[in-house]
Amino acid sequence: MSIVILTGAGLSAESGLGTFRDADGLWLKFDLKEVATPEGYARDPVQVLDFYNMRRRNAAEAAPNAAHQALGRLVASDRHEVTIITQNIDDLHERGGTPNVNHIHGSLFEALCADCGHVWPHREDMTIEDACPACETIGTVRPNIVWFGEVPYRMEEAVAAIETCDLFVSIGTSGTVYPAAGFVDIADDAGARTLELNLEASGGIFGEVREGPASSVVPGWVANVLSGNG
Ligand code: NAD
Repeated sequence: MSIVILTGAGLSAESGLGTFRDADGLWLKFDLKEVATPEGYARDPVQVLDFYNMRRRNAAEAAPNAAHQALGRLVASDRHEVTIITQNIDDLHERGGTPNVNHIHGSLFEALCADCGHVWPHREDMTIEDACPACETIGTVRPNIVWFGEVPYRMEEAVAAIETCDLFVSIGTSGTVYPAAGFVDIADDAGARTLELNLEASGGIFGEVREGPASSVVPGWVANVLSGNG
């Protein structure tokens, strides 16, 4: 069976990384226009770098939870063809045992030169004094994260996988940020089964919804799939 899994902030919530739109979500504490748009970066790059330095440190200190680990077991089993697409910018899928994840919103652990477009691994804090290792310009470093108003990465690959899958599973995403929010419609149009695993149903057009925290619902579903009852 070919399975495509879309994950969102809810998957990492129990690892201690805040979601965006829940009651104590990040966007209630920070102004999205100031910290997650190219315009916000142009206005105040130091504030933006500091925001992501904080999130990078939080992500580095967090550990994958039972849901990331269950997805790692599903991939490692090789029983099914599994594609994981994530909106998360942390690396908890990778540390939970899934090496090849399509990070459509980029990664906290990569830097991008706003001048020449060079991308490089970056686990430390970023500062406005940093130079790009390719073009050597100073003051153009930013996290390699897709901000609001920018085009998500590797979308063609994501859509191609969804159009040909047998089962599409959405985990811990509110379905409010496009284009990922439209993935379930693509899967449904293509005739795939659709399943949502979420603390609370998002209201999307899923054929089946299982509600509960990711750390219990995801391992339960993976166990079903691995025993042939998915
Ligand atoms: P969102 O905040 O809009 O929605 C979070 C969803 O997670 C909700 O549907 C909520 O019901 C669910 N949820 C909360 N706790 C849960 C739990 N314990 N178990 C299962 N589900 C739970 O987040 P989203 O839909 O991913 O929004 C997309 C944007 O959020 C993306 O741009 C993404 O990059 C960003 N984001 C990423 C991270 C991260 O990388 N860890 C953290 C916050 C936000």
